[in-house]
Amino acid sequence: MAILPIIKAPDPLLRIKSKHISSVGKEEKKLLEDMIDTMYAAPGVGLSAVQIGVAKRMIVIDTSKSDLTSNIKMINPEIIWESEEDQLNEEGCLSFPDQFVEVLRPKEIKVNFINENEESITSTFIGFEAVIIQHEIDHLDGNLLIDKVSQIKKNIILRKMKKMKKLSTN
Ligand code: ZN
Repeated sequence: MAILPIIKAPDPLLRIKSKHISSVGKEEKKLLEDMIDTMYAAPGVGLSAVQIGVAKRMIVIDTSKSDLTSNIKMINPEIIWESEEDQLNEEGCLSFPDQFVEVLRPKEIKVNFINENEESITSTFIGFEAVIIQHEIDHLDGNLLIDKVSQIKKNIILRKMKKMKKLSTN
């Protein structure tokens, strides 16, 4: 198990569309464990594999923030239903440190995924959990938080990110 560095915007890797996983082997299981460790260490409530540089369709979430066993690991997650009712939430992203934007998303979703034991699962998620899962699935398609805001705000955030990168590499 390992805590891995999280890729920060505007790294082009964050725009890659992650690949579907055909079988869950040792490598995938280890990666899921590393993702869990990295998420808790950040600390964060969700993480996608592409954020640690592996463009495979895997996400981990834990909205409890306290209990280190209540995480959910999802492989090939797919939203198969979403509610008409929306919710507005302030979202952050581990790839955009200290940036927060308001995003409107469906309040409830039904998700198909496979777990680390290759069992197929369909679950319904509501509220904050639904937000995190939608946010992480966005990552798998190369979609980012900044795509949800106006061009002006997008430019401001990207400028801040570039400045941050400059400071950390100098
Ligand atoms: Zn994110």
